[in-house]
Amino acid sequence: MAIQIPSRQLFIGGEWREPVLKKRIPVINPATEQAIGDIPAATAEDVEIAVEAARKALARNKGKDWASAPGAVRAKYLRAIAAKITERKSELAKLEASDCGKPLDEAVWDMEDVAGCFEYYADLAEGLDKQQKLSISLPMETFKSHVLKEPIGVVALITPWNYPLLMATWKVAPALAAGCAAILKPSEVASVTCLELAEVCREIGLPPGVLNILTGLGHEAGAPLASHPHVDKIAFTGSTLTGSKIMSAAAQQVKPVSLELGGKSPIVVFDDVDIDKAAEWTAFGVFWTNGQICSATSRLIVHESIAAKFVDRLVEWCKNIKISDPMEEGCRLGPVVSEGQYQKILKFISTAKSEGAKVLSGGVRPEHLKKGFYVEPTIITDVKNSMQIWREEVFGPVLCVKTFSSEEEAIELANDTQFGLGAAVISNDLERCERVAKAFQAGIVWINCSQPCFTQAPWGGNKRSGFGRELGTWGLDNYMTVKQVTQYISDEPWGWYKSPSKL
Ligand code: NAD
Repeated sequence: MAIQIPSRQLFIGGEWREPVLKKRIPVINPATEQAIGDIPAATAEDVEIAVEAARKALARNKGKDWASAPGAVRAKYLRAIAAKITERKSELAKLEASDCGKPLDEAVWDMEDVAGCFEYYADLAEGLDKQQKLSISLPMETFKSHVLKEPIGVVALITPWNYPLLMATWKVAPALAAGCAAILKPSEVASVTCLELAEVCREIGLPPGVLNILTGLGHEAGAPLASHPHVDKIAFTGSTLTGSKIMSAAAQQVKPVSLELGGKSPIVVFDDVDIDKAAEWTAFGVFWTNGQICSATSRLIVHESIAAKFVDRLVEWCKNIKISDPMEEGCRLGPVVSEGQYQKILKFISTAKSEGAKVLSGGVRPEHLKKGFYVEPTIITDVKNSMQIWREEVFGPVLCVKTFSSEEEAIELANDTQFGLGAAVISNDLERCERVAKAFQAGIVWINCSQPCFTQAPWGGNKRSGFGRELGTWGLDNYMTVKQVTQYISDEPWGWYKSPSKL
């Protein structure tokens, strides 16, 4: 079934707006390699207009502007967005699958998560009304003090292509709940559903300028947005390389930034596991979303006494994974997102071979698929710590394997990485799992599973995987600032000139 994407413009100040330079970017379906439409390409000129629209949405207007409206009012809009997403779930999922190649079932889950995330932050927005003044107890009775939590202001949200609408929602929903006005710049590689979010906002009558959506290239739209002096904060998800550029841009203006970056996460499998169960989690942990998951547990560290049997089981698993057009029923692995990503993955695999690693399974295009950017699920053994395949993020369906003989060695191997996003441990000994979980240098740890992610729980990494946490109440705090208000309540004069040691 051929899908054509709706033709859209930039979304600025509550309206569709043609880019000033009238540029557009083709949208390629990675399963067919065919163009299915195009998206507008914003440049610095459009960024100027969008920032102005966002600032206008926050201009003080007796409680009627977005920032000073009660949380309950903002919640009403967030719930209306959630309801529309739910109503259009299957259509949006098809657009997502055609744009980025993820299996349709997974795209449907994403849309459910998107709606759930807007609902969750609607609840938190309402909760803000109850905690407008947080009193603080002070050691001096001549003073009283309270804290106000306030929206940061205009925020730039820059997002990647692997979960196009979901990654955008992780930022848009809490930013709007907090009372910020936002400018979203999704990835040029997959922006289609983000433009549909714009249509949803238009339909539900979100006040103009509260959410502006600028599709376009990183250097043409993302860079001027990140360095704009009237943007108060940047929230970024993407590669570590771009993350460091964003941080430099923010540093020039001493602007807060939160970064969700790449990973090379380990999964440690002990010798006391049920091999079938552990193999399924291992395969899911790296091949789900066509292997394009920031937290993919792409480094398997397995106890030497079960390694041969375990890897055989994984190879069998790989043979049973259905690789097909994402729209086909039962598809579990679709194409990777673009030709560039496809070539990058094949290069990683050929470099691994040239460095002496062994491709045990996969590593090539599946024979039955002549078109599309497909890579078979790939398992690589005989890996050394120094190899590129062990150290760098592939962002594709590639698992590499090393063995260990002691718990200490497993932890050392797991932590020997510049990244610190996810880590998983599989063992029937729960005390050991707790010990290993504590020892992992990562922001997210899974015990006896890999990848489950919940809107209520904090998400983010350490080391070069970034800093700051999304989701849960931490996600809301990303978009709020804290103001201390302290009042002198004594009738007596302060008397500083008499007794300077009073404080
Ligand atoms: P990317 O860094 O290439 O692009 C991300 C976004 O930044 C895009 O919107 C892009 O247009 C924009 N951009 C590029 N250059 C820019 C610049 N100079 N200034 C401002 N914006 C710029 O990343 P990608 O290829 O889209 O996504 C894949 C990466 O994202 C992987 O490394 C993956 O691990 C990471 N990721 C991390 C998480 C997480 O939660 N930690 C989640 C999803 C993806």
